[in-house]
Amino acid sequence: MTESLRPKVYKSRKLRVIPLGGLHEIGKNMTVLEYGSDIMIVDCGMAFPDDEMLGIDVVIPDFTYLIENSEKIRGVVITHAHEDHIGAIPYLLQKLNVPIYSTRLTLGFIRNKLREYEVDADLHEIAPGDEIRLGVFKVEAIHTTHSVADSLALCIDTPVGKVFHTGDFKIDYTPVDGDPLDLSRLAAIGDEGVLLLMADSTNAARKGYTPSEQQVGIALNNIFASTKKRIIIAIFASNVHRAQRIIDMAAANGRKVAISGRSMENMVRIAEELGYLEIPAGTLVEMNQIRNIPDDRLVIMTTGSQGEPMSALTRMANNMHRQVQIRPGDMVILSSTAVPGNEKMVSNVVNSLMEKGAEVIYNDIAETHVSGHASSEELKLIHTLLKPQYFMPVHGEMKHLIAHAEIAESLGMDSRRILFGTNGDVFELIRGKAKKSKETVPAGAVMVDGLGIGDVGSSVLNERRYLSEAGLIVMAACFENGHLVSGPQLISKGFVYVKEQKNFLEEAREVVEEELMYCLDSGRHDVNAMADICKGRLRNFIYEKTERSPVIIPVFMEV
Ligand SMILES: [Zn+2]
Ligand SMILES: [Zn+2]
Repeated sequence: MTESLRPKVYKSRKLRVIPLGGLHEIGKNMTVLEYGSDIMIVDCGMAFPDDEMLGIDVVIPDFTYLIENSEKIRGVVITHAHEDHIGAIPYLLQKLNVPIYSTRLTLGFIRNKLREYEVDADLHEIAPGDEIRLGVFKVEAIHTTHSVADSLALCIDTPVGKVFHTGDFKIDYTPVDGDPLDLSRLAAIGDEGVLLLMADSTNAARKGYTPSEQQVGIALNNIFASTKKRIIIAIFASNVHRAQRIIDMAAANGRKVAISGRSMENMVRIAEELGYLEIPAGTLVEMNQIRNIPDDRLVIMTTGSQGEPMSALTRMANNMHRQVQIRPGDMVILSSTAVPGNEKMVSNVVNSLMEKGAEVIYNDIAETHVSGHASSEELKLIHTLLKPQYFMPVHGEMKHLIAHAEIAESLGMDSRRILFGTNGDVFELIRGKAKKSKETVPAGAVMVDGLGIGDVGSSVLNERRYLSEAGLIVMAACFENGHLVSGPQLISKGFVYVKEQKNFLEEAREVVEEELMYCLDSGRHDVNAMADICKGRLRNFIYEKTERSPVIIPVFMEV
């Protein structure tokens, strides 16, 4: 092959960085790095649906680009075990058979998840300090401190330079496991030269430093030492270190620990099996034994710190928990803060608990929670150590990304070197240069509703929204040989408060009955035709009376 015939692409090979999720949102983190015929992926998370997405269970990234380029994918590296980083793995593996790399504890959580979904996987364990090769990429795993143990940052050596991805982190000088972030390694990487830094923006708008997990220990210790009440404490199910502190404090104060909530039970089992959680013998008790234990000898560690509707704490607050009835003399500690969007659910739970006479301690009252994400001064340290040529703020909503960009600028970075984009943008880097390409890849939110992935589109959502606003009336009747044998009956859902509007519904029913009788008397017996006529009549009646248009569903049957 002569020089001129050589494919052009060979000479101008670029590193392409494509965020498929995690920009302008907290959730579904996923980043694609592509060079020539190699692709590696960082994280594969899910997001929780927002209020507009009615009936949607989870939201996952759009995998279209990966499916189209599946032969290039060398592996997925997972930074840590939070759902916004691992939650979409089962869905990815249903489409693509790709190897997954992460630390022992993270793989423990992933394995548990895959078992639930009955998906097979090619999992590879890596440890901090390890270097793995994925095609042209050389990936160094670096231990970080975050609110789940065994978290990683990644230093990715590419043919055009190093890309440093922080994962989620904070700088905790006194972490519970005694293993702080290796700042000297970061400084060394900075000296070797970093082309692009991608860093966690969650707390970029917060001044100062995020306090150490140690602070929570101190606050909880004070509470544990000074109360004789039964303690019920809600934490994030993945926060192994905090669970360890609580178990230790319980043991030190002569209390037993019971675990409530499936995800919490899973976490304790996985973390203990893998040696990340040490539980003193005799400390754990089964939930069905708690009635035999005096209040001042018991701690119940539970899920539900976000007020999630089906979680154990919410069920306790609503008198729907099988083993725990909240009563005066209980102390409930929320060792968490509400994730943006969950504030209302959390405050509902707090109010219900208080109504039942429990003393509720949450983060406004005592320092029962610290964030796992770096605040602005910690971010400045990371930028200063790594001295990147280019910077892409990731893991955050618009306000977080902007705050992080401002931090970079305040440290002297030229704003043109800040890669500010959105999911689906393609950034191209060649040695010393970066730009946003005109090309974009599909990166919308794929909604998962039960077993259906991506089959609920905007039209279905519009219907659900309409139903939620206007309500629904089912109009039922049974016929036999041209005679009405049962009904008509009206059942309303979400339309009017039935007790107050009994008369109204009865009136509406009479209108339908009258219309039906008229049809039958005049010899019209076709149920579909009658359904249409009655539906129209009912719609007009309701609109005249209420100026509302609920969805009307006729169920007319020949029996
Ligand atoms: Zn995250
Ligand atoms: Zn995280």
